Amino acid sequence: GKMSTSMLYLDGVSVSFDGFKALNSLSFVVEPGELRAIIGPNGAGKTTMMDIITGKTRPDSGQVFFNGEVDLTKKDEADIAQLGIGRKFQKPTVFESHTVWDNIELALNRKRGVFSTLFYRMTPGDKARIEEILETVRMTARKDDLAANLSHGQKQWLEIGMLLAQEPKLLLVDEPVAGMTDAETSETAVLLKEIAKTRSVVVVEHDMGFIRDLGVKVTCLAEGSVLAEGSIDFVSSDPKVIENYLGR
Ligand code: ADP
Repeated sequence: GKMSTSMLYLDGVSVSFDGFKALNSLSFVVEPGELRAIIGPNGAGKTTMMDIITGKTRPDSGQVFFNGEVDLTKKDEADIAQLGIGRKFQKPTVFESHTVWDNIELALNRKRGVFSTLFYRMTPGDKARIEEILETVRMTARKDDLAANLSHGQKQWLEIGMLLAQEPKLLLVDEPVAGMTDAETSETAVLLKEIAKTRSVVVVEHDMGFIRDLGVKVTCLAEGSVLAEGSIDFVSSDPKVIENYLGR
């Protein structure tokens, strides 16, 4: 069943804050290698859902299965990250005073638990992986530049690269194209599709042009549960979605 074959399976997840139901028996499935888009009005529960998946918030009821086996609701945040879930928050957090290359190298070392490079020599394999990640996130030509000198969009890509160095099986990405140029926005759609060839990706976005560009299955949340799910054409023509989100 879904529990054993899906990458992520939320089964009837509910959580309330001061009596307000932020998530109301939410069920949600992501398959291996799937790229999924999440849309929905402010307060729909999108952030709360990500907080539950990453163990930042514990649900009142329901279960979360990851990669076929574990119930994440029994685990803490560090263990969940270790199992292979990466999360990118909306604001980029890169080491501004380090080069692009060093940012990726630092992330790779962190994954290994190497906190001092004095005693660690990178293997040819490490270097090849960094080069591969730089290619994926469109940063090869900028590898020797300080992160501080990148555009906002490039910082977002660099941070995605740092997350890839952790080799997550599932990557959660919160509003990546907010503040990007149009060119960066459309490149981000291509980039995320490439990344999803080797892992599952869930992206929360408000930019409907970008969502349309992605061309993947969309889940619209409202009031803590799924309002509609399917292709963007299907979801965006749903009267409930128009009333609760698009028509606002
Ligand atoms: P979205 O990300 O879709 O905008 P959120 O998940 O941030 O929605 O919020 C869903 C609802 O839960 C909102 O009404 C929000 O105010 C409330 N909420 C979220 N987190 C907390 C919290 N830690 N304490 C109290 N209320 C919260």
